[in-house]
Amino acid sequence: MSATTRASDVETRPVGLSTDDLPFLFDDHHRALADTVRAAVRDVVALEAKGHGNDTDRAIVASLGAHTLLHGFAPTAGSVDLRAICLVREGLGWASGNADSLFAVQGLGTYPIHAFGNDAQRDRWLATARDGTHVAAFALTEPEAGTDVASLRTRAERVGDRWSITGEKVFISNAPIADRFVLFANADPSRGRRGITAFVVPRDTAGLTVEGPTALVADHSIGALHLDGCVVDDDCRLGAVGDGFKIAMATLDTFRVSVGAAAVGMARRALDEATHRAVARAQFGRSIGEQQQIQAYLADMVTELDAARLLVLRAARLRDEGAASITQEAAIAKMFATEAAQRIIDRALQIHGGSGVMRGVAVERLYREVRALRIYEGTTEIQKVVIASRLLERERARLPST
Ligand SMILES: Cc1cc2nc3c(=O)[nH]c(=O)nc-3n(C[C@H](O)[C@H](O)[C@H](O)COP(=O)(O)OP(=O)(O)OC[C@H]3O[C@@H](n4cnc5c(N)ncnc54)[C@H](O)[C@@H]3O)c2cc1C
Repeated sequence: MSATTRASDVETRPVGLSTDDLPFLFDDHHRALADTVRAAVRDVVALEAKGHGNDTDRAIVASLGAHTLLHGFAPTAGSVDLRAICLVREGLGWASGNADSLFAVQGLGTYPIHAFGNDAQRDRWLATARDGTHVAAFALTEPEAGTDVASLRTRAERVGDRWSITGEKVFISNAPIADRFVLFANADPSRGRRGITAFVVPRDTAGLTVEGPTALVADHSIGALHLDGCVVDDDCRLGAVGDGFKIAMATLDTFRVSVGAAAVGMARRALDEATHRAVARAQFGRSIGEQQQIQAYLADMVTELDAARLLVLRAARLRDEGAASITQEAAIAKMFATEAAQRIIDRALQIHGGSGVMRGVAVERLYREVRALRIYEGTTEIQKVVIASRLLERERARLPST
């Protein structure tokens, strides 16, 4: 699929990266970051113009590394800056859903090593993740364990001072190009989720077969893994035996917020395109933007977009300031932003009339790209379960025990 963002778009459009409208949510270094993201977006657009495929995808990851944008997943000093990650995803989401996914999954496969690995593991794997010369991936989902990930069946068996891993992983983003996988397997099924353990599995491990790329509704590097007695050393184990579920959930809590940011970037692009179209397209002797129905669409779109961005940045800032848990805020941000983005993009397409469904125009691409965001890293339905259960738990705790 050819890219629908042109170099000239990046020069003349805002790329959805304003930090000035919400000064109370950003620090000075976030303002400087917006310029770096804009430069990176320009390079991504140039690379995608050459066509989609594994070589382009690896080149995009390397380019993001060269622009230092991957450092934030494993900072050498300080802690992860979630607002910065959100800004990058807003910018990439504006220009290319594929580049946004490549960026985010590099993070999903890097952050667990930074946060839960030991010094030797960080020394071994993080430098190449930061500079983008090695591509990372995160392998949790299985054919029979999607939303219910705790029921995963991939088995890790201790063999002396090594581990033998056997099982299957599906829907693994970056799999076609990844050099290594942060992978979750159960080391003691009798303990249920408390047996789940995290490993770093290099791609060249004997017994590991990668299937893909699998074609999706929009460009997205994705595939499946088959593990047949893959043997890895114990120093590939992240955290303690049984810590895997906790590691997976902590990683997803952080990155889930940034899915909302990518949705905001895509929705911002749709609003930019729709506003332009409302002014440029005339029917009945005047621009369609002078029709009140179109104005009402635009008003709803910008209001939902602002609300989504605020929810995303609230969750991100809480985490940056060291909140003990952002599970509730992350679920609210992810659910609202991805659902709102879908509505905004649909309206933008409607404002384009028939031109909106033509292959190659930006709103058509966005219409396809935004869809998966309501599914991965926890579906909208499961976010609702999380949000409501926290609310009910709090109320139950408030009631006097009987
Ligand atoms: C583009 C894309 C990229 C992905 N990348 C990765 C990746 O890099 N690594 C990885 O490990 N996984 C990845 N995934 C997998 C993703 O996380 C799962 O698809 C997702 O968690 C849903 O699981 P499932 O597809 O098996 O759906 P199912 O779990 O089968 O769900 C089907 C439907 O049932 C609903 N449902 C299920 N349980 C409940 C419940 N308790 N209450 C209400 N509704 C419920 C769901 O919300 C959904 O609507 C990716 C998926 C996609 C689409």
